[in-house]
Amino acid sequence: MTKDGELKNYIGGEWRMAEAVERLPVVDPATQETLAMVPLSNGAEVGQAAEAARRVFPGWRAMPATERIQYLFKLKPLLEGRFEELARAITMECGKTLDEARGEMRRAIENVEVACGIPLMMQGEFSEDIAPGIDEFMIRQPLGVCAVIAPFNFPGMIPFWFFPYALACGNTCVIKPSERTPITMGLVFELLHEVGLPPGVVNLVHGAREAAEALLDHPDIRAISFVGSTPVARHVYARAAANGKRAQAQGGAKNPLVVLPDADLEMTTRIAADSAFGCAGQRCLAASLAITVGEARDLFSEAIADAAASRAVGYGLDEGVQMGAVINHASRARVESLIAEGVKEGASALVDGRGTVIAGYEAGSFVRPTILQGLPPGSAVARTEIFGPVLGLMHVDTIEEAIALVNSGEYGNMACLFTSSGAAARQFRSQAEAGNIGINIGVAAPMAFFPFSGWKESFFGMLHGQGRHAVEFFTQTKVVVERWPDDWSRRF
Ligand code: NAD
Repeated sequence: MTKDGELKNYIGGEWRMAEAVERLPVVDPATQETLAMVPLSNGAEVGQAAEAARRVFPGWRAMPATERIQYLFKLKPLLEGRFEELARAITMECGKTLDEARGEMRRAIENVEVACGIPLMMQGEFSEDIAPGIDEFMIRQPLGVCAVIAPFNFPGMIPFWFFPYALACGNTCVIKPSERTPITMGLVFELLHEVGLPPGVVNLVHGAREAAEALLDHPDIRAISFVGSTPVARHVYARAAANGKRAQAQGGAKNPLVVLPDADLEMTTRIAADSAFGCAGQRCLAASLAITVGEARDLFSEAIADAAASRAVGYGLDEGVQMGAVINHASRARVESLIAEGVKEGASALVDGRGTVIAGYEAGSFVRPTILQGLPPGSAVARTEIFGPVLGLMHVDTIEEAIALVNSGEYGNMACLFTSSGAAARQFRSQAEAGNIGINIGVAAPMAFFPFSGWKESFFGMLHGQGRHAVEFFTQTKVVVERWPDDWSRRF
């Protein structure tokens, strides 16, 4: 960052002022203080980053994987050393609480740890004697330059779903953070610089749509990892494919929780409230609908309404705060209008977070937790991703109806069941159409060694972020069939 608070790009191992003329303020959602100015880089700057990454690729891919991962081993203690600073940056630019930001950084670091296992994860396969004297084997090779386009809501974690694996596999990388929360990745890049990677192996380009589209169109970029809203994910996937690139595009969500009458009510309520209201509902794994079955309805509605009403809302850096702000005023207005639409569609607001003002942070973009009871199935609000602290309650009589309701949604990021029945859990995990399933878990976020498995409108592509999927995504297979003269000694 310059003295004037302008964020710099990091290209070819150097911090560079962007040539772009357009700049946006990065605003703390709770205090409305301008934290920095982010440049909206253009195609020329993206081109410089892609060129730097392309130039260093041959040397980087030729370095043994055991040497490449030494840079990740060095990165881990550096991330731990500035852990609190990174978490505070996330809270300030994104609005979530400090504990949530710490959790986010912990999940980011996990991916560095897992990617250190690349020498094993990247191993090929070998079949001896597929025919007399002939062997066949498959090796994994890196693709070249890869790009990451990230959303605003996990500025510290989401690029880590991709870039540690990309680099460890021998690729080079260009990262474009969200223009709304670009500060944290800038700090991470200070650490990547300190690690001493060969210049150009990893590059940071700030920007918005223009920069993202330049990455999608650049001929030297071989693969795109995108996370963001579904309409943009669909567009990114199509444009990357039209340009002959490999793409993985993780999109939005509308996650249901199903509560059976035999669920532990106290635990279910606590977990459901954390899922729906944690990160102010701005999580792609936030619960957005709770579907109660049979007698669970009255008890759960009452308990979750109490949990919503009693949640401490405020500035994420303040002690005791359980929920922070939403990202900006436009997002608050959108969430409030969806609450109004839900009421118009027939739901009753058991707890209504509209018009929230927090003492000391009167200008902040806050919405308190909201519960919409009796949201009609099929209504627009029951199907729309709200991305705010709003939980819709619906009711059915059987688990089969609940599963049918879950499966009627367009998204498939996560579905959760609360029960004490193993048989019900087994039925649910087998039949629910979502790629991440929680059983008595409210945020079924896969650990770094599992793929982040969105389905349906929540994901476009085949291979997800994290774990083995990332290794497959960031490598291409080469199959070799090999024969050697059987008696070589006679030839010399
Ligand atoms: P967004 O789609 O507005 O932006 C995501 C990224 O795309 C940003 O870097 C942005 O600059 C860029 N972008 C915006 N418009 C573009 C365009 N037309 N072409 C190319 N790039 C473009 O998303 P957001 O508001 O930053 O993030 C919230 C969304 O992300 C929610 O829908 C949430 O569910 C989703 N999300 C999904 C996951 C997941 O794993 N499935 C994880 C986190 C967030």
